[in-house]
Amino acid sequence: GAFAQASLKQVDSVCPFCGVGCQLRYHVDQNDRIAHVEGIDGPANEGRLCVKGRFGFDYAHSPERLTRPLIRRADAPKDPTAIERRDWKELFREASWDEALDAAAAGFRAALTATAARGRASPVAGFGSAKGTNEEAYLFQKLVRTAFGTHNVDHCTRLCHASSVAALMEGLGSAVVSNPLRDVAHADLVLLIGANPAQNHPVGATWIKNAVRAGTRLVLADPRRTELARHAWRYLGFAPGSDVALLNAMLQVIVSEGLTDPAYVAAHTRDFDTIKAHVAAFTPEAMAPVCGIEPEVIREVARAFATAKSAMILWGMGVSQHAHGTENARALIALSLITGQIGRPGTGLHPLRGQNNVQGASDAGLIPMVLPDYARVGDVAARERAEALWHLAPGTLGTEPGLTVVEIIDAAYRGDITAMLIQGENPAMSDPDATHAREALAGLGHLVVQDIFLTETAALADVVLPATAWPEKTGSVTNTDRCVQLGRKAVGSPGEARADAWITEQLAVRLGLGWGYGIAADGSGSGDGAQGIGAVYEEMRALMPSISGLSWPRLWREGAVTYPVRDEQDPGQPVVFTDGFPMPEGRARLVPAALVPPAEEPDAQYPLVLITGRQLEHWHTGSMTRRSQVLDAIEPSPVVSLHPATAERLGLRAGALARVSSRRGAIALPVRIDDGMPPDTAFIPFAYAEAAANLLTNPALDPLGKIAELKYCAVDVRPAAAE
Ligand code: SF4
Repeated sequence: GAFAQASLKQVDSVCPFCGVGCQLRYHVDQNDRIAHVEGIDGPANEGRLCVKGRFGFDYAHSPERLTRPLIRRADAPKDPTAIERRDWKELFREASWDEALDAAAAGFRAALTATAARGRASPVAGFGSAKGTNEEAYLFQKLVRTAFGTHNVDHCTRLCHASSVAALMEGLGSAVVSNPLRDVAHADLVLLIGANPAQNHPVGATWIKNAVRAGTRLVLADPRRTELARHAWRYLGFAPGSDVALLNAMLQVIVSEGLTDPAYVAAHTRDFDTIKAHVAAFTPEAMAPVCGIEPEVIREVARAFATAKSAMILWGMGVSQHAHGTENARALIALSLITGQIGRPGTGLHPLRGQNNVQGASDAGLIPMVLPDYARVGDVAARERAEALWHLAPGTLGTEPGLTVVEIIDAAYRGDITAMLIQGENPAMSDPDATHAREALAGLGHLVVQDIFLTETAALADVVLPATAWPEKTGSVTNTDRCVQLGRKAVGSPGEARADAWITEQLAVRLGLGWGYGIAADGSGSGDGAQGIGAVYEEMRALMPSISGLSWPRLWREGAVTYPVRDEQDPGQPVVFTDGFPMPEGRARLVPAALVPPAEEPDAQYPLVLITGRQLEHWHTGSMTRRSQVLDAIEPSPVVSLHPATAERLGLRAGALARVSSRRGAIALPVRIDDGMPPDTAFIPFAYAEAAANLLTNPALDPLGKIAELKYCAVDVRPAAAE
């Protein structure tokens, strides 16, 4: 049709937004611009795309793209209170790549020299990105660990599934999803808790709806009655923060009614007696007042889960983003294990990964406590392997884990971290208690940001390095199903924007590392793996048993392969834990989940609960989707969603301007009435700089996962005019 005639070139790639990992085809016009996008037959999507994948591409051609390296003007103050959408010309001057890279490297060298003189730990930290490629993530952590001599390297996984990962590592010895999302088609029952896939994993939600139509029973457990409730067999609208009360009550029913799978428990788990004793007090009658679900409903759902031929658990940030997120995940793991609902098609545990490459970036070692493939930094053999491959003297890599995202921001605030490299992340918007985070970033002596736009974080930088957008580079990404796919460069970059991997290599060379990958500045890559991005992948593969059987040429041939993949003949393993776990004796550990209240409860001054999250049309901090014309036209402004009765009590109508405040900040934004909201609860998406939800959120951390409580804090909501 008309589209086909206009497009000169078609390039197959992967969607840059969520962890579902839909494959798509870019249609490129004669001006080297993406004309339109269509879904193609990838394993996760079979041609389907959601509104983000289909229409969220023109951000790449936005006139706001950064096209030249920038250096902060000497007279431009770092004002953390005025960072939204600033014109860069007020703050920065343009520089050549050589000048900007020299300045970036010099600032890091100066910071390192200053602390080395005082015998202190490295004052440098890096935030890599879950939106880049695996190769970019790998190079980034290698740079931080070798040039900066520290494991202070983390990324947004910390704000996403860090608590799920902590519980899965502890219980199963591995944090990967056990079964792909599309296994819902083989499940008799799906328990979906603390996730809103219709907005955040939309194509995944279509597979769930298809499964329901074919007879799968869906149990949706979420304080918000979201879109998929219409398709649910049972909807459990439990009180925010009471996950453990609900789940432990289900465990109590299963144990007390003899609905466990004794053969599975005996063969594959340990510490069942501990769980059995722990959940005895969590009767449905005792927990109903805490979680707000009727005892008979808890019993019915628990029985259905335990007795289903196959039952699968999917969860999202509603479970993980709590100061007790690890406890929540422990309860889910126990539920799956004691009923033997794992290790077969249509069963298992699937923490829905948020960003397109949060799985891959974590695998590649963008985490302060582990090297690539989750080898603990304290593991001598793993360190020696990395040191040998990276040509480092034995003993170079430290034995102590580095700091996590929120800890790094706190250390910057205190002055213990003085220099940071940030690749494609936007902590000024995404971190809890954003005022504190912005002050910490503004206080850094040296901040270098690589990004495609002048984000709220980049506005506080000393050096800004313009990067290539997703459709402008080649590299691998790993979706929520552990499927490694190939993203292919479709269009050129504007101005002098350069690939993040090239920038990292240039910095490494200036910091004295003898890297010679020969990465292409324009983001291109070829299929032989001999040099450039392919050589980086092959080095990664040498360090990572999970992908040892997936060579770069094979990835180019096949386009999508699910790890673990041991050799070139191995087709990959979509379902894992079929025969035990990577734990002593192959047994998973059952860990009791404690019922811990939220870190900050509503009171007379702040009587409502705030839940933050995402929307269908907007992605995370909005830097891409708010510059996508169609998406921003559908959801052009921030809103606070309230239950109709709550809004009425507060004297707020739909569209009225509300002032929402917490102990940490206040924002003003219009009201949206949503009868799926629980009473006395507010929901605000965190994509909008003009009313940044994270100015309100609580930075209280889960002690194990170090994830912040982004899903619960106390707020006051009132008409803005009543000020
Ligand atoms: Fe992209 Fe996710 Fe939508 Fe698929 S479901 S098109 S991966 S945002």
